[in-house]
Amino acid sequence: MRSGIGLDCNVAYREIPICSGYDDEGNPIVELVEWPFVLPHQLVAAMIQNGFLNVLVQLDKMVDYWHHMLKEFPDHPAASMVSASAPLSLYGDEGQALGGSYMAFHFQSDLSPCLKNAGASRFLITTIPSSYYVFAGKVNLTLQSAAKIICGSLNELSRNGVAIPGDVSDHAVKLRFYVMNFKGDWKYLVQLFNFRKNPSTEKVCWKCEATKGNTDMTNAYTDVAEHAPWKATLWTSLPWPISEVPELTKVTGFDVKMISADLLHTWHLGCGRDLTGSCIKVLVGLRYFHGRSIERSLAQATVQLKRFAKLHKHSLVLRKLTKANLNWSDYPELRCKGFDTFVVLAWLQHEFSLQSKLDLMTTAVWCMDSLMRMLAHSGMHLSEMQQRQKTILGSIYMNCYMTLAQKAIEDGKKLWRVRPKIHILHHCILEDRESRLNPHYSATWMDEDFVKRTMRVKKRTHKRTATSATLCRWLMGLPKQMQLSLDQL
Ligand SMILES: [Zn+2]
Repeated sequence: MRSGIGLDCNVAYREIPICSGYDDEGNPIVELVEWPFVLPHQLVAAMIQNGFLNVLVQLDKMVDYWHHMLKEFPDHPAASMVSASAPLSLYGDEGQALGGSYMAFHFQSDLSPCLKNAGASRFLITTIPSSYYVFAGKVNLTLQSAAKIICGSLNELSRNGVAIPGDVSDHAVKLRFYVMNFKGDWKYLVQLFNFRKNPSTEKVCWKCEATKGNTDMTNAYTDVAEHAPWKATLWTSLPWPISEVPELTKVTGFDVKMISADLLHTWHLGCGRDLTGSCIKVLVGLRYFHGRSIERSLAQATVQLKRFAKLHKHSLVLRKLTKANLNWSDYPELRCKGFDTFVVLAWLQHEFSLQSKLDLMTTAVWCMDSLMRMLAHSGMHLSEMQQRQKTILGSIYMNCYMTLAQKAIEDGKKLWRVRPKIHILHHCILEDRESRLNPHYSATWMDEDFVKRTMRVKKRTHKRTATSATLCRWLMGLPKQMQLSLDQL
């Protein structure tokens, strides 16, 4: 193993507007500052020149990847050179550090052999404190300026590419990189893509014209019938105003369908928590778990859950089921980590299978346990059968859950919460993408992990210089991470 190697890549400084304070009248003081970035085109070139190409991309997977993706995006510029084009994902999210929140941007190479190793596959671009944001109306000028710089650098990778060392033939082809996937939680997507249809407005969805149904029920997202009117409005309007075109849309080959719904936030940290929370409350009400009080029943449920997790070697962060973490007196929601939702769902399915009872609740659990399991264990592109299975299982779930929710309203019970996230889940279920891209693949499990690590580095730095110190430290540690992964290949 080589030691003491570095990367020929430095932190670059580019101008962005920030809010540096407020004047006596409370108006923001806007300043243009030189902000630190690790520019993707410089980093990728350095990684390839320093011998890390194999950690960055599996060249033999590219043709198959484009075979799938070009079915959905036939005019994509990569079509002219599929054997020398690699896909990227761009990610952003806010994390907590130094008593405030920071937006962190990073990217990944989608055909990296070590995507499950966050340290060797996620590449930091910059972090920006949210207290620095400058707005013009609803547009976040700070983030749009950063996005413009990031976009410019990514376009260097798609227009000019990077030469592969050792390839000295007359027809040497440069490896080009294209962003094919924009991921992050809903809040991030709203900020970066200037969505004017979002969970805080009457029209909720960036993909279609579905509404909350507050003033007019015509396009209500709660209508899950086969011919619900909103289904015919898919991609009929752009989610941003024509005068506020987001900078990220200027990435070479951009298509609005490349903006991904994140299954982790949509399901495991969203609707899945509503399902598991309500199931447990209903089971306690049915006296399914031994115990004369709610507290004792929950304690018994905890014992059974933990036994199941141990038996199946699932790691569970959740210590116990309580009225507090189930949001007992309001609409139940199991407040737990994303993977805990996966485990609790599997446990409920196990409990129900012992009862062999079939009703709306047990069917809903069976559908989503099967569906999430199938997606998690499938490749980047689903087979035709898997894609059909996704729609069938998911549609049965939507019908069961919405029927339960409707019945609870009629009975005056706070159960089976319905919120806009379920509409995003519904799209995920119905989507019949020509590329058959597995939605599990755009979920941000590893990215969340990477942001947390980034924020841990930040806690050891001084606030004023936090971002440049974070980027420098991260760059210094990267070659070791890459070398370790290279040695394991
Ligand atoms: Zn929609």
